[in-house]
Amino acid sequence: MELKICHLYPDVLNLYGDRGNIACMRQRLAWRGIDCTVTELPLGVKDELCDYDLFFIGGGQDFEQTVLLSDLSGGRRDNIRSAAEDGLPFLAICGGYQLLGAGYRTADGVWCEYTGILDLTTEGSRQRMIGNYAFRLGPESGGGVVIGFENHGGRTSLGPGLSPLGTVLRGYGNNGTDGTEGARYKNVFGTYSHGPVLPKNPAFCDTLLRLALERKYGSVCLEPLDDSAEEAARKSMLTRLHIEG
Ligand code: GLN
Repeated sequence: MELKICHLYPDVLNLYGDRGNIACMRQRLAWRGIDCTVTELPLGVKDELCDYDLFFIGGGQDFEQTVLLSDLSGGRRDNIRSAAEDGLPFLAICGGYQLLGAGYRTADGVWCEYTGILDLTTEGSRQRMIGNYAFRLGPESGGGVVIGFENHGGRTSLGPGLSPLGTVLRGYGNNGTDGTEGARYKNVFGTYSHGPVLPKNPAFCDTLLRLALERKYGSVCLEPLDDSAEEAARKSMLTRLHIEG
């Protein structure tokens, strides 16, 4: 078996170790003897996005989020939308998550017209929401507790038909007010969680890998791995956040 991962905009969207999510997916596949290729698609590189099994988009600062607008309108927007509507798994973090919504008004008032795949919009603010945080995934996304690190000025509001990825246990999440975190639509997972999020949350990583493998090969059994080091790290952060394991 093999998974082809596409890393979109690694040149402009990569904050707080987001790239570590790729390393984590690659390693958890390798430990199970599953091949993996990673294609980095920076700004300006043409690709129809037809030959991938899983997409990753990291976070970025407001400036970088405006820089990629011309690339999006040059055809990328439609390609990303087709892949998402077709059920391809996406993991999108913070600025990358915002990019899957209708748009983002930066703290300087610049409107970024995004992809509209997710029914959400984001309003920038100079008052940032920063810190280690945790949320509980919705049952359709595995139901476990995800721990991560957030740092965003943007406040995201979900449209009425869009499910959040989870419910905030500690921290801010989408907007600091309604208790929602991230969004889940088809196999698109959007979250504010940097960290990087997947090494800290191996079960969440396996949910994404399983979805991608099952879409490609039908039913698959992911061999359990020894996650004792990851679980010890999780326990320590859950204690710091005063969350019962
Ligand atoms: N620039 C965006 C914001 O502040 C995204 C930040 C990020 O990706 N960490 O909301």
